[in-house]
Amino acid sequence: MGEIKDNDAYEEELLDYEEEDEKAPDSVSAKAADSAKKGYVGIHSSGFRDFLLKPELLRSIVDSGFEHPSEVQHECIPQAILGMDVICQAKSGMGKTAVFVLSTLQQIEPVAGQVAALVLCHTRELAYQICHEFERFSTYLPDIKVSVFYGGVNIKVHKDLLKNECPHIVVGTPGRILALARDKDLSLKNVRHFILDECDKMLESLDMRRDVQEIFKMTPHDKQVMMFSATLSKEIRPVCKKFMQDPMEIYVDDEAKLTLHGLVQHYIKLGELEKNRKLNDLLDALDFNQVVIFVKSVSRAAELNKLLVECNFPSICIHSGMSQEERLTRYKSFKEGHKRILVATDLVGRGIDIERVNIVINYDMPDSADTYLHRVSSVFILQSNQSHVDLDFLFFFCEFSVNAGG
Ligand code: ADP
Repeated sequence: MGEIKDNDAYEEELLDYEEEDEKAPDSVSAKAADSAKKGYVGIHSSGFRDFLLKPELLRSIVDSGFEHPSEVQHECIPQAILGMDVICQAKSGMGKTAVFVLSTLQQIEPVAGQVAALVLCHTRELAYQICHEFERFSTYLPDIKVSVFYGGVNIKVHKDLLKNECPHIVVGTPGRILALARDKDLSLKNVRHFILDECDKMLESLDMRRDVQEIFKMTPHDKQVMMFSATLSKEIRPVCKKFMQDPMEIYVDDEAKLTLHGLVQHYIKLGELEKNRKLNDLLDALDFNQVVIFVKSVSRAAELNKLLVECNFPSICIHSGMSQEERLTRYKSFKEGHKRILVATDLVGRGIDIERVNIVINYDMPDSADTYLHRVSSVFILQSNQSHVDLDFLFFFCEFSVNAGG
């Protein structure tokens, strides 16, 4: 911590979380290099290019702003695109959807009138979202058609769609898919990829499991089966495996927490009214490449950014009040180094890659260990995949003392 620490009576180093493991199970701790192996935050330095995906897919990946595969993507995609069966458990938000979306799109050879892939999930919202992901990643594969089917929509509409514009990829909830298949409107005899998302939810409920089994039986024997879930108890795993042949199994459980050895963390005890002054002093005193400052709300992001700009700091902000497009433009501007300070809400996270950042300031404390993880992972872990850690300082501004329990 050097000079700043010596000059600042308020500042103390946070205890190393590793010493705290038992008291603070949610805390992050331990070693950066190892951590990259374990969580959603473990973004690999390998790129999507290394998977040898179709150029059309790579293009849409770039459009989506994905720069590095997440841990599960890194583990699963190379095998999944070869047609292997996959069973994968990893926390929400780790990028499981893209695993099956990309590997299906990579393998599929669309034949008019034939459904080649079937994705089942337990809620309409999820079905809708998955369909959207397929559409997003198939932007440059215009021959591939995707449709979503769930209850609550007039079944006649679905029947007509299947008759007139049969999709190559079908996403849906089991009840509606089964109804369409039983009525012979949906033919499953050409299905080559059978996917269950949130598979434990589908197989734990006996009613749903029955539907899934019946649908499964209507598909050919020779196909790829992939199952994904945020949770997957030991009891349900054998049930899942009954649908598969020698699957690749990936379990990224919760104990495999991100760890942060080697990262010096500091906190500064301050009242709300003292924060701006302190921030100003820090930005003046520290020798930084780029800084990310996290705040807790959209309005605070906008306000703080305005203030920094007024003080002639090269600052930009990104928050959820902006359109996706606007965020991406700003993110790019920061990444390319046009601005050196980024004020952000927790929205900024997940696999973004800002290599030049060497300081992170938590202007507002994260409200949970998870949020903290997202914030830190967005900057720190990406760097930890490289041979050394470049992040020099991580500050917390807080209105209370951080002690051993905190
Ligand atoms: P899961 O299915 O594990 O819950 P998702 O696939 O829904 O996770 O991904 C969560 C979010 O992260 C989505 O907004 C997705 O677009 C984004 N995402 C997934 N993989 C990456 C990546 N490699 N880089 C950047 N963002 C990603």
